[in-house]
Amino acid sequence: MGFREDVSITVDALDAFARDARKREGPVLRQERLVPLQNALDVAHLIEHGGLEGQTLQRFLDTYLAASTRLHHPGYMAHQVAVPLSQSAIAALVDGFTNNAMAIYEMGPAAAAVEHAVINWMLEKIGWRPCVSEASDETADGGGVLTHGGSLANLTALLAARARVAPNAWQEGNPSHLVIVASPSSHYSVSRAAGIMGLGPVRYAPTDSAGRLDPTRLSGFLAGLQQEGTLPLALVANACGTALGLYDPLREIAHICRQHHIWLHVDGAHGASALLSQRLRHLLDGIELADSVVWDAHKMLRSSTLCAAVLTRDPLALDRAFREEASYLFHEKDQPGIDLIHRTVECTKAALGLKVFFALASQGEKSIAATIERQTAFAQETAAYLRTEPEIEVAVEPQSNIVCFRFDGPDSLQLKLRRRLTESGNFYISTAEALGRRWLRIVFMNPSTNLNDVVALINELREYLKSGV
Ligand SMILES: *Cc1c(COP(=O)(O)O)cnc(C)c1O
Repeated sequence: MGFREDVSITVDALDAFARDARKREGPVLRQERLVPLQNALDVAHLIEHGGLEGQTLQRFLDTYLAASTRLHHPGYMAHQVAVPLSQSAIAALVDGFTNNAMAIYEMGPAAAAVEHAVINWMLEKIGWRPCVSEASDETADGGGVLTHGGSLANLTALLAARARVAPNAWQEGNPSHLVIVASPSSHYSVSRAAGIMGLGPVRYAPTDSAGRLDPTRLSGFLAGLQQEGTLPLALVANACGTALGLYDPLREIAHICRQHHIWLHVDGAHGASALLSQRLRHLLDGIELADSVVWDAHKMLRSSTLCAAVLTRDPLALDRAFREEASYLFHEKDQPGIDLIHRTVECTKAALGLKVFFALASQGEKSIAATIERQTAFAQETAAYLRTEPEIEVAVEPQSNIVCFRFDGPDSLQLKLRRRLTESGNFYISTAEALGRRWLRIVFMNPSTNLNDVVALINELREYLKSGV
């Protein structure tokens, strides 16, 4: 048995996995206990003796896929992870096989060229002028790098922000009055970044009744912080927020940040992909005034995990964020290409751009934009349907593909309902805390999910309610 045979076995298994899921066959997810599952997968034996090829590979994949969560199933409505286009998965195979760790151009010129093109494509979507040549970034007004996920991307952007307000932080430590300001509905990776950077707790800015940053109170809040003697390192706005999927008013916020000389970081991990759509782009109006933007491709761009972009308006901002020396890697360049290693936490770096490039290049960006528009419209249609149900409350009118709702009753009821649903495996949804309460949360990632699926989901939840959950 060789590579071709094993790939062919794998592709057949994956194809069947997706085909059955698309036909709504089998559960969306199956929660098996850890140790029995490891035993069924025969992992200990295989680690010791090897032999994962041919029929053994086939048997392993059968067990593995049976216990895998089926994103291709229209009942998958839980998390913000893309149902990847199969081309994007092919890119993951190509990257896994070539293993060109391309943070240094010479280690993977093709991978670096594709990443550079993807970054530039994203910069143009924001409205920034990218660097098109390899000679110099000086004339561009945008730069960036791809990282393993939005959480790492947020940390990276905030390091760039710190390099501007506290350029000596690496030599002298943080100035004691440095703080990160964010929306209270910011992703937890923002407060984690603050912790990792040794900045203490995030200061949360005022919001409106839907949890969006409130520009009418922001200026006073920032002035108050400055009077208190703190030095805001950056303000983090959501585009869109994780729980409810709402966009902060970026243009107004950007103007206020400029008045106060504060770095504006836009966390567009989930929602920046709406930049592709003429119809939805208004939600991100003013994003070009930000100092940095994070944009995940593995959420709304149909790309395999992980692939997240950190983009900055100042093309050298990321280089300034990292000042460590590694003489065997960093030296005067007299070779072609660009080295990304100066811009990222990571040293060995995967060809992340290939996954989003394959996704875009298989469908074209218009088709992906159309899917984003469809999913957003479908979320709004779903909210309208849920509002007609007397015992259901909808949190907010959706601005993205996320819908939060709850049945009459306490928070614990929502959690019990979701647990029952997860045990049944017919549908997979999540929950979120927002506006002081617990909500059932649908994220429409699968383009095949339709209103009949939603109605069936609600009917199943009603059955649980009738039987006392
Ligand atoms: C998903 C998300 C993140 C985290 O991104 P990962 O790629 O999961 O690390 C950060 N911010 C927002 C707003 C998100 O929705």
